[in-house]
Amino acid sequence: PDTYSLERGLPIPQGISKKAFLSAIEELKSAIGNENVQLNEKEVKNGWYMEHPNTHDMMPLLDAEEFIASAVVYPGSVAEVQLIVRWANQHLIPLFPISIGRNLGYGGAAPRVRGSVTMDLGRRMNKILDINAENYTCLVEPGVTYYALHEELVRRGLQDKMWIDCPDLGGGSVIGNALDRGVGYTPYGDHWGMHSGLEVVLPTGELVRTGMGALEGANTWQCFPYGFGPYNDGIFSQSNFGIVTKMGMTLMPNPGGYESFMYTFQHDSDLGPLMDIIRPLRISNILENVAQVRHGLQTLSVKGHPRTKYWSGKGPMPESVYREHLKETATGDCAWVYYGMAYGPPHIRAHKLAIIDSEFHRIAGCKKIDPATMPKDEYFWSRDRIASGTPDLEELKWVNWMPNGAHIAFSPVSPISGKDAEALYTMAKRRHTEQGFDLMPAFCVGLREMHLIVEIVYDAQDGDMRRRAERCLRDMIDDAAALGYGEYRTHLALMDQVAATYNFNDGALMKLNNTLKDALDPNGILAPGRCGIWPARYRGRGWEL
Ligand code: ADP
Repeated sequence: PDTYSLERGLPIPQGISKKAFLSAIEELKSAIGNENVQLNEKEVKNGWYMEHPNTHDMMPLLDAEEFIASAVVYPGSVAEVQLIVRWANQHLIPLFPISIGRNLGYGGAAPRVRGSVTMDLGRRMNKILDINAENYTCLVEPGVTYYALHEELVRRGLQDKMWIDCPDLGGGSVIGNALDRGVGYTPYGDHWGMHSGLEVVLPTGELVRTGMGALEGANTWQCFPYGFGPYNDGIFSQSNFGIVTKMGMTLMPNPGGYESFMYTFQHDSDLGPLMDIIRPLRISNILENVAQVRHGLQTLSVKGHPRTKYWSGKGPMPESVYREHLKETATGDCAWVYYGMAYGPPHIRAHKLAIIDSEFHRIAGCKKIDPATMPKDEYFWSRDRIASGTPDLEELKWVNWMPNGAHIAFSPVSPISGKDAEALYTMAKRRHTEQGFDLMPAFCVGLREMHLIVEIVYDAQDGDMRRRAERCLRDMIDDAAALGYGEYRTHLALMDQVAATYNFNDGALMKLNNTLKDALDPNGILAPGRCGIWPARYRGRGWEL
């Protein structure tokens, strides 16, 4: 149904009777406390970002009842995580760990298998275990958000000394985002690349520390990520091989000053030449942070007004319409906007900014917008906060574009080149036009690659629109793969499809993942299906989407 159902009873996981499930739940309650186990018997309810549900995706792509939990458990310690894992093995109940569950656009808090028991680690395991002001590192539990870590630096008077790196929205978990390989916008933007050391509960309940943490009494866990022997950390990101209970993260020294800058470009066709200018500047660190090249329409949508304020016609909003409205904003009429930041004291910044300015001006019509002309509520200042280590929520505003606004991302990676940017943009435009969606691409430029993030904003209560969004995404994934592009991350509903595009040598990578899965999780209890990895008990039995 398109509206959320009110009386569906308990979504019991497949393969267990209601009676056996309820008796297993009673057993768990007596082990960790009644208040730490909640059944999901009520209707699916959506909060807003900061009060998001943990039983399902508040921005469903499929039927709202598809990816929902039967219950949520709240462990309060590593020992309780182990206990819950052993309980799940004993009863063959699928468990789905989340840290905070604000992974919006990628499935939120939802489990892949309906009726899984969601393990919400963040609610009770939310301590900052260490901030080391000499080494610029920290050790955190799953419930530590970017806001919490930032506030703690402020509380300890350390914010002038060191920064965190946050993604577009600061309410997520430092661990959850790194595990899903999210990015932020300071020079420390590659969150996974910047972590050092994990503590993991394996699917059979054993506790492991990776890197230097494997040495009893280690003093270098957050300083040297590799330790000795195989570097195992990778298998715990974008997988279902373990539950991460601690993670070390590096913190960035305050660079001694910073300055945001914004350029606009007039023509759609400036995209290619701009990317070719960005590449050498980014690789040589003249452009120092994960930069964003955003489409003009996205700059309009982030004002937070419904689309109907500008236009109510069917199909994508015509270029002439949004460009007319852009004229009234700080960016002015433009096709693309570049948001970046220079770091360091004024004389260091001046040198880099001068190079950037002369390179960008090779494109006719390029304009630098003076920050002094921008009102305090301009989106530019949100980017300014994020790129200097202060969490923010402004980015959420474009969800208002649609009633019951939801968003879902298509996120392919490519080299930083005009040719690649144009190929992806042209393809995305064609598929959006076919399905009647506004195209709002943002190119996030890493060091040698760029993530193209295309967020489709849709009305989550409109079944037809949800189906068109799904069609559009699936077509783009296939088109991209045919051109040699793969996604860096995807929504729960699309994981099987994306995993299948990584198909070299008859799917050798997935065979390796399956071998690992079966060895580490013989009963197949941990997050079945996440990232397209299915345990033997489920594999090839019609679970794939
Ligand atoms: P956010 O930080 O954006 O709120 P989530 O907590 O939803 O992110 O985490 C994103 C995804 O990463 C989850 O859906 C889950 O699959 C995985 N994940 C998050 N935390 C853990 C963890 N501690 N151990 C294992 N997997 C996790």
